[in-house]
Amino acid sequence: MKLTRPHHTAPTDADTRRSVPVRVCYPIAGLPSLLPSNVSDMRAGASKVDEVLVAPREAGCIDVPAGSFLRISSVDGPQVGDLNLWKTDNIAERFFSGKTRALYGTHVSTGDTLYSNLPYMRALATITDDSLDWYGYDADGGSVHDVIGTRCDPYTGRLLSGDDYHHCCHSNLTRALADHAGIPISEAELHVHDVLNVFMLTGFTHDTHQYFMKASPVRPGDYLEFLAHTDITAGLSACPGGDCGDEHSSDVAACFPLLMEVYSPDPEDIGEFTESLPNPYDRSHGRG
Ligand SMILES: [Zn+2]
Repeated sequence: MKLTRPHHTAPTDADTRRSVPVRVCYPIAGLPSLLPSNVSDMRAGASKVDEVLVAPREAGCIDVPAGSFLRISSVDGPQVGDLNLWKTDNIAERFFSGKTRALYGTHVSTGDTLYSNLPYMRALATITDDSLDWYGYDADGGSVHDVIGTRCDPYTGRLLSGDDYHHCCHSNLTRALADHAGIPISEAELHVHDVLNVFMLTGFTHDTHQYFMKASPVRPGDYLEFLAHTDITAGLSACPGGDCGDEHSSDVAACFPLLMEVYSPDPEDIGEFTESLPNPYDRSHGRG
């Protein structure tokens, strides 16, 4: 946080230094679309093959084969979800929230691709539909589906309140991955990573630029849908914050389930789809 009373006096050319033009760090205009041209037909002809209903203050995992669609839906009441993605056959490869943010901005929507961590940086999934795309950005600078927040966790809770709470999204995802992958809790925890906050309404305050949340506009029936570019496992926590309009990391908020569904396309429609590959950088890092 910046000092309200800086320790150092501004130089005489401070205004000049501040007035230089802004440059987008990672222009994405040249990024090719990874969606097959017949993606609408793929989705229209797809049929449901699996579903997991995630209980409030818990998490669940579901496998999404390459070329399938993952739909996350609000059911029963307004609820936000913390999403992790792993490559199914190698969970060390996982969603890279920070680089996705650097590419697409603080909040994602239809057309944005979720990449995996280095050294893979492979396209894991692209958002194909978002029933909350009408929201845009509000007067507070807030929007939905952020890649800013990391996930609520018991360590930060302990730091700020001194309490131990075991149903933060970090813990929920840890238990769900441990059960799904058949690995110990201590191992699973190391694979839980920064999330895509599905349906959560967040932004940065105008004055202090702190991360804020306000009640999500999500309502039952709203959904966010993805096309999987490779075999992925999705982990979703129904955050203890509920709609995250007030507080999280406690049992205070009203919480509701979230539904994950997998739709597989008709084999006749999958011809144009090709599975994504790891980034082709040679990994020499300048050392021949
Ligand atoms: Zn949470």
